[in-house]
Amino acid sequence: MVRVLNSHTDTIHKSRTDEHYHRTECGALSHVDHHEVEAVGDEFGDDAVSLCGRCFDTSGGY
Ligand SMILES: [Zn+2]
Repeated sequence: MVRVLNSHTDTIHKSRTDEHYHRTECGALSHVDHHEVEAVGDEFGDDAVSLCGRCFDTSGGY
């Protein structure tokens, strides 16, 4: 699985591979400049960044 890092907010999103390269599951980065977005692998440390609650469903509630 490819993850997308928003280097501006240090947040990891899930990448949608079926469409645009920089599209995310939650669509949060559609308005973010490409130079602030970076594709990263699964091995990218979760400790260093925040996981998007909408992409990874880790928020534990709304
Ligand atoms: Zn997201």
